[in-house]
Amino acid sequence: MERIYNFSAGPAVLPQEVLAQAQDEMLNWQGCGMSVMEMSHRGKEFMGILDTAEHDLRELLAIPAHYKVLFLQGGATLQFAQIPMNLLGGRSADYLVTGSWSEKAYKEAKRIGEARCAGSTEADHYARWFKAGEVALDPNAAYLHVCTNETIHGVEVFDDCASLGASVPLVADMSSHILSRPMDISRYGLIYAGAQKNIGPAGLVIVIVREDLLGRASPRTPSLLDYAVQAEHGSMLNTPPTYAIYMAGLVFKWLRRQGGLAAMEKTNIEKAKALYNAIDASGGFFRNPVEASARSRMNVPFTLADAKLDDTFLAEAKSRGLLQLKGHKSVGGMRASIYNAMPLEGVKALAAFMQEFEKKHG
Ligand SMILES: *Cc1c(COP(=O)(O)O)cnc(C)c1O
Repeated sequence: MERIYNFSAGPAVLPQEVLAQAQDEMLNWQGCGMSVMEMSHRGKEFMGILDTAEHDLRELLAIPAHYKVLFLQGGATLQFAQIPMNLLGGRSADYLVTGSWSEKAYKEAKRIGEARCAGSTEADHYARWFKAGEVALDPNAAYLHVCTNETIHGVEVFDDCASLGASVPLVADMSSHILSRPMDISRYGLIYAGAQKNIGPAGLVIVIVREDLLGRASPRTPSLLDYAVQAEHGSMLNTPPTYAIYMAGLVFKWLRRQGGLAAMEKTNIEKAKALYNAIDASGGFFRNPVEASARSRMNVPFTLADAKLDDTFLAEAKSRGLLQLKGHKSVGGMRASIYNAMPLEGVKALAAFMQEFEKKHG
């Protein structure tokens, strides 16, 4: 069977090697006579899978010892509420609104407590990051929330938010670019990422939280949503999403075999270059609106000058095995998500197809 090149924003492509290994181990995991799906989450086999996954994630991201790693459920969207429940402590939090996802996070926080928009790029159609000195932060805020890669608008931050000069804990939604390159974890108070973009199957969200931020949850927080309680129970207050954790663990091993995140970054830069070059060299036939310094290496939205060609583009792309390129309904056009598991050959095939399409229809 032929596998296609899958440019979906999420759930997204997984490394073929990982899928094949999961298939091999489906009926009988490492000689134990059962599938990972059928194991007790408290048995030694699954405890080993969880410990290894956490260990490999810590190695990959160089997570300092004073951070907890939690394997939770509810997606990144539940974190939009869980973060203020745990961290507000009766204060206000600052939010930077740089696209659809940070806007959603900001709106949800206002349902829980006090949140302030400390800066927005909406007037510029979310096509850029902030200029120096543009953002006025509240020095007494409980935290500052940012989305470091806006999956829909294709805007990414590359300096671990250093230019913001935040003095309060930085909380980052990294759902769509975690593990795409090395990050300085110590700059953040809390990082979260839904798994179905760059980690594994849907149903799992990973939270990396500095220990001093634990134990501040408001008294009415359900225990399942209290980071301190989850940390105390090793993410096992109830049954965790065991199969998704197993798959994430296989992806972490795969990343280590690729040479870790420095190696991934090299390839991801090459992939992004190939695609943006194809867009920029088209003389306006294809267009990406994002300021060059903020262009995402993971999610590349682009439009055709003539939107009447959109359906033809998608149909011809599909006939070449290039799928899930339709842009998010809120922005239209196309979007190519080129996560870690998308090989360079897939991006090259897309770029070559775009050139041909332009010759034919331009
Ligand atoms: C996909 C995505 C989300 C939402 O993730 P769910 O797991 O569906 O809740 C939030 N933030 C970002 C940046 C995303 O890409």
